Order: sequence, then structure tokens, then C-alpha cells
Amino acid sequence: LSLAFITSPLDRAAEIRNSSNRLNELAAVGASCCVAVLGDQVQTEAGQVFIQRGAIAAGSVFLGLDENKTAWFARPAVETSELTGLRDLMLAGDADAGLLSILAQARSMVGWHATHGFCAKCGAATDMADAGYRRHCAGCGADHFPRTDPVVIMAVVEGDAMLLGRQAAWKPGMYSALAGFMEPGETIEQAVAREVREEAGVVVHDACYVACQPWPFPSSLMIGMVAKAASRDLKIDHSEIEDARWFSKTEIRQMLERTHPDNLYAAHPYAIAHRIISAALEEIESAG
Ligand SMILES: [Zn+2]
Repeated sequence: LSLAFITSPLDRAAEIRNSSNRLNELAAVGASCCVAVLGDQVQTEAGQVFIQRGAIAAGSVFLGLDENKTAWFARPAVETSELTGLRDLMLAGDADAGLLSILAQARSMVGWHATHGFCAKCGAATDMADAGYRRHCAGCGADHFPRTDPVVIMAVVEGDAMLLGRQAAWKPGMYSALAGFMEPGETIEQAVAREVREEAGVVVHDACYVACQPWPFPSSLMIGMVAKAASRDLKIDHSEIEDARWFSKTEIRQMLERTHPDNLYAAHPYAIAHRIISAALEEIESAG
């Protein structure tokens, strides 16, 4: 199992989003594919992702072209269809990694349309344009674009120890990297420093980028970082997190491998937290 949602096979082919002739042609071809989503759920058939071939409903979002030049679209699913959570599909581990990435794009795009039907400037109803990559307001002329919300997620190290935290809503025993939404006007490094100070009272420096991951619940981009702490003093904000602790490198290894004697464990390999905790552990081990 590896990081989910990062292996889309699609060329987004933005140059044809404005060509309704070309899109209609693509949609009419029997080989075109359409997935359907409703919130975090995906339409399935006997547990498998349902892919509708052929004619594409008006108002579908154009996702892109695969390596065979087959066009992929996404549309809202109806509540009465068989639905499976996108997280459950990911956890089951048998869905194709490319298809999961397509579903991530579909979930974020269809979700954006479902919640942005009205103009934020004047309140009038808006219409889909650019095959789903814009909504236009005929009332005031404003254009609205799909959003991506950046989130910083960071493993914090000091010497041979690593700081991880947990939220009350998580299953017992799970610890992960601290994380939080970036705020307007911040750099990524400033957001890392602010979140770690707010949640754990720890001052960090030298934040370095490791990797990123689209996280379609509904449309985040997880920016994975490793940062160094000035000290191990903790002042936890319990309104934000349930707990935060420094773990030894031995414990971190056990938590990644799920062999910790107290049944503590780190995030699943599908999530970027696992990747950055692993990267930080390698850094600690190579330094020590
Ligand atoms: Zn408007």
C-alpha cells in the first residue's frame, strides 16, 4: 500500500474545456467514462466503482483524457444508487491507484459545484462553465473557480525524538503528525511554526518540504513537512488536540510497523502522515 490519490493517469486537457463541440464528440463516443459521487461517497455496483460508458449527462465535469484518449467525466450520484465511501474504497486496498486518484478529482469537483451554486458577490444563481472548471454569474459577471485548501502537516523532531499528537475523534492508540489549515498571507514555513506553537506550545525552525497529497475531503492539499524543535517543552491546547507527546525513535518505528507494546500506532501508509513520519525517522536514524 502506498500514498493514495497521487497517481492520476489523466491529462486534464484544459485546452478543450471550452470546446463544447469537442467535449460533445468525446462524450458521444462509446468509450468515454463517467464516475458518479455524492459527498464523500462513490457510486458502486456490487462493491466495485461504477463507471458509466457512453453518453454523458449534461452538466458533467470533464476530468481529462487517459492514455487511450478516453475522456473521463464526473457527475453527481443519486441518493438511491449503491454508494461506497471513498475512504472505504481506499482502505479496502483493491481499487486501482489511478482510479482512486480520478475519484479524488471527481469528489472535489462535484462537491464544489454542489456547494457553490450561488454567487458570493451578489447572491444570484451561477452556471457551470469551462466543462466544470468555472462558475459564471450572469447577474454581476463574476467568475468563480474551484478551490483547493492547503493544509500543512508536519513531523517535528528534536534530537532523537519525534512529536506526534492525536485528536479525540481518532480511534484509540492512533498518533499522527500535527496539521492545520494555512491562513491567508502566510508562507508554508510560517503556517508550520504557527500550528505547532498553537497546538503543542513548541517553537520550531528549519521546516523542510517532504511531499504533498491531494486529500479530497472535500478538497485539501496536504503539504508534508519535517521541522526541528528548539526544545521538548510542551504546552498542549486541549481545545485543538487531545494529546501530544515526544516519542523515541524505537517507539516511532514500532508505531509505523504496528508492533508498539501499548498498541499505539501511526497513520496508515495511504496517508501522507505515514510518509513524513518515515522521512523524519530516517533523518533521526541517519543523524544518530
Ligand atoms: Zn454575481
